[in-house]
Amino acid sequence: MTTLTFDSLNPATGEIVGSHPKQTADAVHEAVGRAEQAATWWSGLSPAERRRRLLDYKAIIAQHIRELAALVHKETGKPVGDATLEIVLAITHIDWAARNAQKVLGRRKVSTGMIGLNLSATLEYLPLGVVGVIGPWNYPVFTPMGSIAYALAAGNAIVFKPSELTPGVGVRLAELFGEAVPEQPVFQTVTGLGETGAALAADPRVKKVAFTGSTATAKRVMAACAENLTPIVAECGGKDAFIVDADADLRAAADACLWGAMSNAGQTCVGVERVYVVDAVYDGFMRELSDRVSTIKAGDQYGPITMPGQLDIIKRHIDDATKAGKVVTGGPDSVRPPYVDPVIVEDVPEDSPAVREETFGPTITVRRTNDVHEALELANASAYGLAGTIFSGNSRRAMELARMMRSGMTAINSVISFAGVPSLPFGGVGDSGFGRIHGADGLREFARPKAISRQR
Ligand code: NAD
Repeated sequence: MTTLTFDSLNPATGEIVGSHPKQTADAVHEAVGRAEQAATWWSGLSPAERRRRLLDYKAIIAQHIRELAALVHKETGKPVGDATLEIVLAITHIDWAARNAQKVLGRRKVSTGMIGLNLSATLEYLPLGVVGVIGPWNYPVFTPMGSIAYALAAGNAIVFKPSELTPGVGVRLAELFGEAVPEQPVFQTVTGLGETGAALAADPRVKKVAFTGSTATAKRVMAACAENLTPIVAECGGKDAFIVDADADLRAAADACLWGAMSNAGQTCVGVERVYVVDAVYDGFMRELSDRVSTIKAGDQYGPITMPGQLDIIKRHIDDATKAGKVVTGGPDSVRPPYVDPVIVEDVPEDSPAVREETFGPTITVRRTNDVHEALELANASAYGLAGTIFSGNSRRAMELARMMRSGMTAINSVISFAGVPSLPFGGVGDSGFGRIHGADGLREFARPKAISRQR
């Protein structure tokens, strides 16, 4: 029987980067069967041995960083420097997960608090078995590794379905793991379109699905998982807000805002898409923003839009925003496929698609607010709740606002900085999903607590 294939394309040039099998449900089920056996072997290794193997894997990835970055560059179009950065971040996560797994998950004595009973108790976190990881294309190393490294460190085997736009790098990540762990297929990749991911989610032997992608797909994955009561961690879309308070450092805020909005051509789940600036500093901030944005051009500082279909959404949002609001920079002509130049529009109604829906492009809407409380109210009015930013010179107020921001993560006087801290949990609320990757919570996400009480 011939296997059907699909091509991954360089979005900047249209050239074929690689050809990969469209793996059928049968092929996925075979991979899961192999993973079940590998999970038994991997979980049977001592924690010290698993840690050693993961650190070997980290070293192998570091040795192949140029090759991997070149592949990410070809498959996504992003600059090699950005591709390198995401691999460096992924390496820090492998390191953290390897070094902390035993500390977070290992057996410990628990106080029983039972007066008069001679009872002792222990708590430990055991591996789940096979974890299915379904990934997106925008950060094809950093994002899935935020689940894969933690699930491996917790003693699970992985079947990974990379995005159909970035299959090559997904395959390579598993191959390199095979160099550190050649004995068993502890980390396999299955390639294909959505059906391949659907077959993975529907396999009852998969004990957890780590999904990263759009909110709409997360709902489909959840429906498939519901059949077998398979738990899922869902890392979905965002519409992150950026708040500028009256006493903020406006230059630093403008730098951070543009980097957060335009890097990776805005194709970042925690990218800045909505900006709320208090009246007292509005004009000053907009001057700083306009000065800087004039030096940014697609194709120079950032790459193309990776997924051709996304261009339609970006174009619709730009058309809508520029009709309803006041253009600061760019406009409909900024869309020159596969590139989109920066677009900034003021006074776009809060109920318009450009403010409500995820754009996933280098575009921001900016609104003047009476004060920081109004800014927070508007920021929190989104269905999404992934991350956000607050720029303020008042550290106490900034902390209060950050805590009140309806998001899984908030950066103060910086942007997206939480993603580089492996010990911090990563994830959102509302339409941005649930569950956490990274850090101790990320390790526990891929383990089941085991409670034992003993009468002496
Ligand atoms: P997508 O939802 O289109 O696809 C994600 C993955 O799901 C792909 O591998 C795809 O093949 C697979 N898939 C599609 N249909 C499926 C089905 N029925 N069952 C199982 N799997 C299926 O998302 P995308 O376009 O690849 O990624 C962009 C989205 O990801 C954006 O919304 C972005 O915000 C989000 N994202 C979120 C995070 C986060 O950590 N919260 C990180 C990166 C990207």
